[in-house]
Amino acid sequence: MAVPKRRMSRANTHARRSQWKATAPTLITCPNRACGQQTLPHIACPSCGTYKGRQVTSAV
Ligand SMILES: [Zn+2]
Repeated sequence: MAVPKRRMSRANTHARRSQWKATAPTLITCPNRACGQQTLPHIACPSCGTYKGRQVTSAV
């Protein structure tokens, strides 16, 4: 495994880390018409428990 030869300066470390940014997650509107909540894509809707039109978990 490659190993850094020299310790990176604090300024360089901070300059790199200053580019880290949190991004807001992509949200979709639940396709269940009775629900319509904003949810994460590719997971069962946490509020109505459906995925691809099927009930996969119990609704909260
Ligand atoms: Zn839903």
